[in-house]
Amino acid sequence: MIRDEERLERFLVDESGLGRYPAEAAVLVESRAEVELVLRLALEHRVAVTPRGTGTGMTGGALPARGGIVLSTERMNKIREIDFDDLVAVVEPGVITGDLQAAVELEGLFYPPDPASLSSCSLGGNVAENAGGPRAFKYGVTREYVLGLEAVRMGGETLHTGRRTSKGVTGYDVTGAIVGSEGTFAVATEITLKLLPKPPAVATLLAVFPDLFIAGAAVSQVLHLGARPRALELLDRTTLEHLRGRTPYRLPEGAGAVLICELDGEAEGLEAQLLRCANACEQAGAVEVVVAQNEQQRRDLWETRRRANPLLKESHKHKIPEDIVVPRGAISEMLHRVDAIAAAENVVCATYGHAGDGNLHINLLLDDDLPDTRRRAEAAVAQIIRATLDLRGTLAGEHGVGLLKSRFIPWEQAPPLIRLQRELKRVFDPEDLLNPGKIFPTTE
Ligand SMILES: Cc1cc2nc3c(=O)[nH]c(=O)nc-3n(C[C@H](O)[C@H](O)[C@H](O)COP(=O)(O)OP(=O)(O)OC[C@H]3O[C@@H](n4cnc5c(N)ncnc54)[C@H](O)[C@@H]3O)c2cc1C
Repeated sequence: MIRDEERLERFLVDESGLGRYPAEAAVLVESRAEVELVLRLALEHRVAVTPRGTGTGMTGGALPARGGIVLSTERMNKIREIDFDDLVAVVEPGVITGDLQAAVELEGLFYPPDPASLSSCSLGGNVAENAGGPRAFKYGVTREYVLGLEAVRMGGETLHTGRRTSKGVTGYDVTGAIVGSEGTFAVATEITLKLLPKPPAVATLLAVFPDLFIAGAAVSQVLHLGARPRALELLDRTTLEHLRGRTPYRLPEGAGAVLICELDGEAEGLEAQLLRCANACEQAGAVEVVVAQNEQQRRDLWETRRRANPLLKESHKHKIPEDIVVPRGAISEMLHRVDAIAAAENVVCATYGHAGDGNLHINLLLDDDLPDTRRRAEAAVAQIIRATLDLRGTLAGEHGVGLLKSRFIPWEQAPPLIRLQRELKRVFDPEDLLNPGKIFPTTE
């Protein structure tokens, strides 16, 4: 247990930019038994507990909003099993996502969910947030890979949910309910994950566009081809300006936007598919299409994409990260609306994201603390959320709701649905002690 102020500090912040939330202590659990003990004592003494993976969350999910104890699973970091025949991995929640991916790939297997934070985020955090990533376009998000969970409720009762088999419909889908519950239902202590055979070949291209709107139109063209890229990522001019000269891949000069398109599957036919995607980009108005020539170039390209968030963050005093999703047919319209909102409110936005899924990370970049700057940014955020909902989208694609977006939930969901979800929370945690203050606004 950590109580010392200096050592406690790193457990009181995350990547949301929401600042520091004080807590009494951090407990670094090493086993399920320790989690059970902490949650039993916490209920007895009515102490709030906030589960935490590695603190890369973007919406404040791991911040101890009501103080109490931070329960860190970072030491529960063992891969317990990788079973080639069953296509299953069993892991502790503190395993780093990229470490599992590397381990299964050594066995010729594949774990698709690939949040850009994969070198530092934990699988427990991925389960709690139902994390996505570029490859979600073809392979889906974390939920599709969680077969079963061992999870401890507030009070210390352990549930074994789900299964190890690829199919199974016994009872309600409690596993599915816990996935994406942002640490408010139970603490995951063991995760059983579905694996796939590793795709034999991968091919990647980068298309350069004069501006974001032409790139947005190219997304529709590629989608209409019938080809199924595993990733289709978009980066706008502002993001590219932050990356230029600071990443392993040398981005073309003067690019107004880029699309990264990646395909996988049998080697035979892959090149032809890539060519069709390249042609679609050119027809839409790409000025240059570059194909990664080897594995190193491919890795450099993805490392460059993954640097977008950290480099934007370190270059500005504040970064407000939005994570909206619009239906695929509305991507271009959304990009135009964001541009108009940014111009009207005089704020700088950097937009990148998983365009194939319509999931755009719109980052508002602030360089001072003046009340007018904050007011304009808040007005822009509200308009971006309104525009998203107007286009029949949703306000949170993969980063969760946490603290950052809870006030917007009633904009998207009607009171009966919010009430039902509050009742569900009470079933798991009647005293509201596990990660309290998250997802739903404190007043309706
Ligand atoms: C540079 C960068 C890039 C990112 N890219 C992506 C991306 O592409 N896709 C994406 O989806 N996200 C992305 N994220 C967001 C973040 O990495 C994910 O939300 C990730 O899943 C959080 O994992 P974590 O271990 O850091 O969790 P934390 O931040 O520690 O916690 C997140 C939530 O999970 C809960 N939690 C953690 N462990 C447990 C557990 N064992 N049981 C129950 N609840 C638990 C916490 O209470 C909290 O609500 C990115 C973040 C950064 C900083």
